[in-house]
Amino acid sequence: MATRYVRVRAPEGTIYYGILQLNRAVQVLDAPPWHQGQPIDLELPPESYELLAPCAPSKVVAIGKNYAAHAAEMESAVPKEPLMFLKPSSAITSHGSPILYPAKSQRVDYEGELALVIGERCTDCTPEEAASKIWGYTIANDVTARDLQRASLGPWSQAKGFDSFCPLGPWMVRELTTGATVQTFLNDAETPVQCASIDQMVYRPDALVAYISQTMTLLPGDVVLTGTPEGVGPVQVGDRIRIEIEGIGCLENRVMARQSNPATVLPSDITAIQFPPPEA
Ligand code: MG
Repeated sequence: MATRYVRVRAPEGTIYYGILQLNRAVQVLDAPPWHQGQPIDLELPPESYELLAPCAPSKVVAIGKNYAAHAAEMESAVPKEPLMFLKPSSAITSHGSPILYPAKSQRVDYEGELALVIGERCTDCTPEEAASKIWGYTIANDVTARDLQRASLGPWSQAKGFDSFCPLGPWMVRELTTGATVQTFLNDAETPVQCASIDQMVYRPDALVAYISQTMTLLPGDVVLTGTPEGVGPVQVGDRIRIEIEGIGCLENRVMARQSNPATVLPSDITAIQFPPPEA
């Protein structure tokens, strides 16, 4: 099994990167793993820590319509260049935390996606250089208020940017399984609503990172969402969405109605967000 890198909050409140052990204890590292974090003399017992999103990026850069079948279901063509947009870091939430359904929308969709984690500063890279800047991989749900996206004439910042609209995790791995399948499941259904091989991407991870780096510098810990396959669809309050990527794991979140004070149910690192992030 691939080594699983996590980010956790210890009982006294400190946030650590670490390595998840088979018994679910966490071996703490002294720095983010892409900064060569080394094990220290601290192991957090199972159940003693809060599992957070696996990194705290300065930005999440997402790519739209990167699978031809999904572009077709959106009644559009595959873009001539990668279609790039941003999700705010405040939208990030962890495995097991709720997705908050906002009252402003009547149509919220799941989008299961492979997420890249950047390990090294990356400006104007070639695809060959970009390949070495990708430190690892995790799973994302690019949750989208589809009605607001369709009604919008401008950027998708609102439709894609609500608090909790970027579940990420549960952990990161260094290697990607060749041809890995991305699958999305709703509730207890055995048949996935999305199922595709990452080989069906139009623009490959290294090409995406190179392309993005021509516009904006990617920093260590930044995240790139690589686009969703065919089969997007709506969620309802109470639904559970599980996204599985072969060789990485499963990211699961339940949908609940957004309350007047969403901070009460958001992960503690989001509600207490600090800039720059402590590990920067
Ligand atoms: Mg997407």
